[in-house]
Amino acid sequence: MALRFFNTFTKRIEEFTPIRPGEVRMYNCGPTVYDFAHIGNYRAYIFEDLLRRYLKYKGYKVTQVMNLTDIDDKSIRAAREQGIRLDQYTKTYKDAFFEDIDTLKIERAEHYPAATEHIPEMVEMIKRLLERGHAYRKDGSIYFQIKSFPNYGKLSGFDISQLKAGARIDADEYEKETASDFALWKAWDEEDGEVFWETELGKGRPGWHIECSAMSIKYLGQPFDIHTGGVDNIFPHHENEIAQSEGASGEKFANYWLHNAHLMVEGRKMAKSLGNCYTLKDLMGLGHNPLAVRHELLTTHYKQQLNFTFEGLSAALGALQRLWDFWRNLEGVTEETERGRAAPILERASAGFEDGLDDDLNISPALASIFDMVREVNSLIAEGQISKEEALETLNLMKRFDAVLGFIRPEESTIDEEIEALIERRNQARKDKDWAEADRVRDELLKKGIILEDTKQGTKWKRKLE
Ligand code: AMP
Ligand code: ZN
Repeated sequence: MALRFFNTFTKRIEEFTPIRPGEVRMYNCGPTVYDFAHIGNYRAYIFEDLLRRYLKYKGYKVTQVMNLTDIDDKSIRAAREQGIRLDQYTKTYKDAFFEDIDTLKIERAEHYPAATEHIPEMVEMIKRLLERGHAYRKDGSIYFQIKSFPNYGKLSGFDISQLKAGARIDADEYEKETASDFALWKAWDEEDGEVFWETELGKGRPGWHIECSAMSIKYLGQPFDIHTGGVDNIFPHHENEIAQSEGASGEKFANYWLHNAHLMVEGRKMAKSLGNCYTLKDLMGLGHNPLAVRHELLTTHYKQQLNFTFEGLSAALGALQRLWDFWRNLEGVTEETERGRAAPILERASAGFEDGLDDDLNISPALASIFDMVREVNSLIAEGQISKEEALETLNLMKRFDAVLGFIRPEESTIDEEIEALIERRNQARKDKDWAEADRVRDELLKKGIILEDTKQGTKWKRKLE
């Protein structure tokens, strides 16, 4: 069956047809690098990773662009408070972002353009908006005039008649109730300190929304196929992106708009004040396996609210263990005689996987098909009813699933060697009566989720299961 997506723009499930046959061009709103990304952000990036990987599985050549918002009100303020340059401030968070996405096995996009490196493209677009009567100057700043764009509100359902005449907004983030003309270019003021560009538009800096319009079109052309982000981006950010991009050129911006629902933690909204804005490193520090985090973030349909729980993380690890054990069981099959019993099981699994994901990335039936296969083939193995060749075919299918899901293949056992080496170091420290070092190593292992037990037979270790 054909691939279908729920398009926020048309509010319907639609069959996916790319603009250029065999190719997909996709833009995702990426991190604002003013702080470490939290697991809510990673829900968005993992949904986008699933989308990318499944499009590739379907045979498309994918060009994916994710921006890095390395300039906004908050990061400018924070850099000033710390007395460092904006680029020094944001570098920490950019680096951490790339480290995390690798750990979470999020495939790298083709482009990660940073806003501060695309000021000329933004200036060009703002000039066109001025020429075409969609923007105006006021006190050195330049604003987009919403009433000049009759389609404003089509994506989010915002009623343009509610617009307050003459109201303007400079802040990067604002609420629905205060929708109004928004800043494309902000004249420099003291709060910006050293952060400004001298351009044809004057001395200042761009607003937040214009960066996504300018950078998506630069790398993908206009129109492109898919634009995504979390639901919080629909209004005003994506509405503004459409107005800017279509206002500047008169052409359609993007064909399919996909939005992921938010993530809650233990039934509550994430909030700094609740101490539940977990980063990936926080969870790993508590001994959790990053692939269990990937599993938990991926296995709820992207349009459903996801309740992230520690119990769920343990269950995720159990599910991963079943997949990894199955993989190893398959590798251990040596039987030479063909039985012909595996083929129909694999066919069913493959069809179930694709039927699920074709249906707007419906992950639950896709996963259920994999686990049905695991159960059925495991019993064939137990009964000696599967040949080596059939086991290899099953492994090949598992590899195809892994290319989409990224957690099917067992983790390399080098982890075990690393643990053994650390235990050895601790034993040496104990012999040397260097208790501080011995404790440090024990804590380091605990952070990796390894619990030590000193017995008469020596030190034993086990994985913490939560
Ligand atoms: P930001 O760094 O805040 O600009 O957000 C980056 C991406 O994460 C955007 O696509 C957001 O919509 C998404 N996002 C932010 N918070 C959450 C959350 N709690 N759950 C899911 N996605 C989120
Ligand atoms: Zn954006």
